[in-house]
Amino acid sequence: MKRDVECLPEEVVALLTPFFPGLDLSRIRVCEGIPRYVVGDPVGYADRYRIYFAPGAYRVDTIEGLSLIAHEVAHCLQYQRHGAWRFRARYLAAYFKNRLRGMNHLRAYRSIPFEVEARVAEENHFILRRRRRPYSNCCPNR
Ligand SMILES: [Zn+2]
Repeated sequence: MKRDVECLPEEVVALLTPFFPGLDLSRIRVCEGIPRYVVGDPVGYADRYRIYFAPGAYRVDTIEGLSLIAHEVAHCLQYQRHGAWRFRARYLAAYFKNRLRGMNHLRAYRSIPFEVEARVAEENHFILRRRRRPYSNCCPNR
């Protein structure tokens, strides 16, 4: 993948759109490299309509890669739903509330309601794709 920003391939937009009603997936831009200010070394990070992937994590040709894209797209929808600053405030508030309850970083992060919701999107997509075998030749960028 190029380092610069690009759109999601048309096929991926078509594949994921039914899972995210109300979100225009053609507005999403992807780029490689997680911004330096993001803590915790994630494989993906969403900011409004932009998704950052750790080098090698953006894969449109594997179920795992598409599931990660679905997870990050779920965050894009959350940004749209709540507005960027409200989303960030609620996200961080939930995280710190979990920490105050005594959870460690990973558990506190995974228990954020926005993360729970994104994992559902990720898992739904994963299960669906596995059922519809064989999964092949429907993605570009190869
Ligand atoms: Zn997430």
